[in-house]
Amino acid sequence: MKSHVKAVVIGGGVVGCSVLYHLAKAGWTDIMLIERSELTSGSSWHAAGGFHTLNGDPNVAKLQAYTVQLYKEIEEISGQSCSLHLTGGVMMADTPERMDFLRLAHAKGRYLGMDTELITPSEAKAMFPLMDEKNFVGAMWDPVEGHLDPSGTTIAYSKAAKKLGAEIVLRNRVVDLTQQPDGTWNVVTEQGTVHAEHVVNCGGLWAREIGRMVGVELPVLAMEHMYLLTEPMPEVEEFNKSTGREMIGVLDFKGEIYTRQERNGILLGTYEKACKPWSPVNTPWDFGHELLPPDIDRIAPSLEIGFKHFPGIEKAGIKQIINGPFTFALDGNPLVGPVQGLTNFWCACAVMAGFSQGGGVGLALSNWMVHGDPGFDVWGMDVARFGEWASLRYTNAKVRENYSRRFSIRFPNEELPAARPAQTTPLYDTMLANNAVMGDSWGLETPLWFAPKGTEPTDIVSFHRSNDFGPIGEEVRATRDKVGVTEIANFAKYEVSGPGAEDFLNRLMTNRMPKVGRIVLTPMVNEFGKLIGDFTIAKAGPRNGEDRFMIWGSSAAQKYHMRWFEKHLPKDGSVRIHRFDQTLVGLSIAGPKSRDLLQKLVDVGVSTKAFRFMDFREMAVGGAPCMVNRITYTGDLGYEIWMAPAYQRLVYKAIKDAGAEFGLVDFGMRALLSMRLEKNFPTWFRELRPIYGPFEGSMDRFIKLEKNDFIGREASAKEHAEGPKLRRVSFIVDAIDADVMGDEPIWAKVGKDYGTVEKPHGYGAPRFDETGKEVRGSKAAEGASAVRGIVDGEWRVVGWVTSGGYAHYVQKSMAQGYVPAALAEDESAGLFEIEILGHRRPARINVEPPFDPSGEKMRT
Ligand SMILES: Cc1cc2nc3c(=O)[nH]c(=O)nc-3n(C[C@H](O)[C@H](O)[C@H](O)COP(=O)(O)OP(=O)(O)OC[C@H]3O[C@@H](n4cnc5c(N)ncnc54)[C@H](O)[C@@H]3O)c2cc1C
Repeated sequence: MKSHVKAVVIGGGVVGCSVLYHLAKAGWTDIMLIERSELTSGSSWHAAGGFHTLNGDPNVAKLQAYTVQLYKEIEEISGQSCSLHLTGGVMMADTPERMDFLRLAHAKGRYLGMDTELITPSEAKAMFPLMDEKNFVGAMWDPVEGHLDPSGTTIAYSKAAKKLGAEIVLRNRVVDLTQQPDGTWNVVTEQGTVHAEHVVNCGGLWAREIGRMVGVELPVLAMEHMYLLTEPMPEVEEFNKSTGREMIGVLDFKGEIYTRQERNGILLGTYEKACKPWSPVNTPWDFGHELLPPDIDRIAPSLEIGFKHFPGIEKAGIKQIINGPFTFALDGNPLVGPVQGLTNFWCACAVMAGFSQGGGVGLALSNWMVHGDPGFDVWGMDVARFGEWASLRYTNAKVRENYSRRFSIRFPNEELPAARPAQTTPLYDTMLANNAVMGDSWGLETPLWFAPKGTEPTDIVSFHRSNDFGPIGEEVRATRDKVGVTEIANFAKYEVSGPGAEDFLNRLMTNRMPKVGRIVLTPMVNEFGKLIGDFTIAKAGPRNGEDRFMIWGSSAAQKYHMRWFEKHLPKDGSVRIHRFDQTLVGLSIAGPKSRDLLQKLVDVGVSTKAFRFMDFREMAVGGAPCMVNRITYTGDLGYEIWMAPAYQRLVYKAIKDAGAEFGLVDFGMRALLSMRLEKNFPTWFRELRPIYGPFEGSMDRFIKLEKNDFIGREASAKEHAEGPKLRRVSFIVDAIDADVMGDEPIWAKVGKDYGTVEKPHGYGAPRFDETGKEVRGSKAAEGASAVRGIVDGEWRVVGWVTSGGYAHYVQKSMAQGYVPAALAEDESAGLFEIEILGHRRPARINVEPPFDPSGEKMRT
């Protein structure tokens, strides 16, 4: 065993071996994988080996497509077979709602380059004759599904990595990790200590314990999972003989089950409601190549539905029931990337579908380690996406919820109940008394909308407009016509101070920093000129003669942004960053009467001249020390008021008391988002993401290329000089009773050449081969040529929706999304259609915001 290496990968499951292979392939060959036992000694050896590309997050779906097409490559390099069976598979819908879900997934597949197809239950039965098609209303076919040999695949990764120069050490447990002052690591193992620049946690079932070695509690939990294998079945053998094909994989939403052919019989797995965590607090180190005792009673309800839906299976004898543990994060997606607060400590764990995701995880992580960027939009699996609130018990409740509804539909207006309430503001009980419907905003209870008195404060979940539509409309109209108040504790808030603060922020941000008492809006980009943040920054008066800036941003990105800030902090201590989280909370008042209302609460003048648009002041509001921004996300006259939690009730009461004479209403987050739509304002993580350049994101006026050498300036200047390929635009959609939710395809009847466009990082609009034929599915994932929209008068998918909804004040259904730049200013009718729940609805680009296009109302 070497004593010094560039990187140590802990864990020889499918994920560790994939990370090792990808690091070696990227040129880091001085690397070592350390495995406590034999390879595959965690969950990898007893996996059912199924794989598919579909995922709720399109970016994760793309990485799954990469994983599937990688198997050929590792087989060739290693000489080891993965026993790949690319059978294809279907998802079966038993209700119209589940069929709507499939329509959405199918529409999304159009711009992901996936070759899915909506089919009838009878067509599905022809490929899997053991089902009773009368139980279903429809299905979706995906040809890029199948199964493989889990152990063979893990070995193939490891052999391929070794061929490229990586070392693998078996039967050697990592017992401790200690960091050196220079940020490197001593990896203490049973066979001695290895010094490494980087450490990667691929510990699978023990990832939590490895996290604890460095003082981190990772939000990951193992669950028991069962699948059964039948005896050989004559029906299966007969089908194989008569068609020359294997039976396909089937996923049944209603039963939360999956099934497929395994040898001459059937494999059927369940995600049962009465699910059970395994080793919820500590994973035993002596757990080896073991299975857990099966518990047929626990899966009996799922089997009952399974046998009803697939009566052909019920007749077969059960040969074996496998019960094994594997790990999940709260939302079922992996935890990948550098851990905030630590240097050179990386994670690739909680990979619940190692054979669908392992390749993509390995590629993204190795890119990140070697090149400083994952090369893909990996937010959906970034280890930074959960906050401190994701404690052991919180994780336990959420993982059980996620497991038991693994294949369930999540409606766009559906809030899941487990582990709530976690964090609350001092106004929580008041908001409940006001009949608020609460939502979870990065672990914080936040009012979404207010149900009329005497009605149940609950959402009726739906893909269509629902019971919140009327009340939100009233909240919006009252705010726009008079004045409204809302809680805004769910923003991220930071203070950056010290003698080097201004230089530091100028280096990180694309806009100039404000003068004392003023506010700027500014994106942040990375070295590659991609958007990684969008902030409101105010300069407060100096403290002890030192500069002080207040920063507000996206709540969910707090750890993501702290990781970036810390990485770029000067080493000389000249800059300090404080993240407030919930130690600073807020209220926003907005609408034409908001100035009159504020004036009643403060002892200083707040006239248009005294307190201008984009001013920042520290002042007492209702007697409480506050910071006030003259700015609001509603895009109207309005203010954001920030205070310590101890004062929030006082300020709220003062606002309510003084607001009565102006007709003040409470409004929730959904009304706020509706109002931002009619102002064409973007949101972070929907419109603005690390796959877009700032000019693509239409953030032009906040990018000051000439101000100084900020990070990403060169790449942004290049984007500007060459012209962005895409543009973020706003649409008005002829919707009927359902609005866009995000990820819908945008069609255009293209009559001119708009050049070559592609959704960044390899996924995107459909691709075409040299003959003009559309290339889809795995071939597209392999990188066929990009779309060219030159066919006169032909409808094509040219873009994708990022978010939208109903803009209540202007009474229009609106959407934002990305289209080729050459089409972005074309407001002509009849050019665009947006696909909503399988129906293409006419849509028109709206360059100017429909509410207050000149911005006069917010400036007066
Ligand atoms: C019953 C069942 C069915 C499944 N079906 C599927 C399926 O059909 N498709 C699919 O994609 N996935 C399936 N899975 C999930 C799949 O098994 C996991 O996604 C995958 O195994 C995760 O791999 P991993 O490398 O992250 O973790 P693991 O396989 O748990 O590997 C972790 C490795 O790290 C080693 N290790 C831990 N700590 C240390 C230490 N301190 N020092 C040295 N070594 C250490 C362990 O010994 C182990 O070998 C299934 C799982 C189960 C249980």
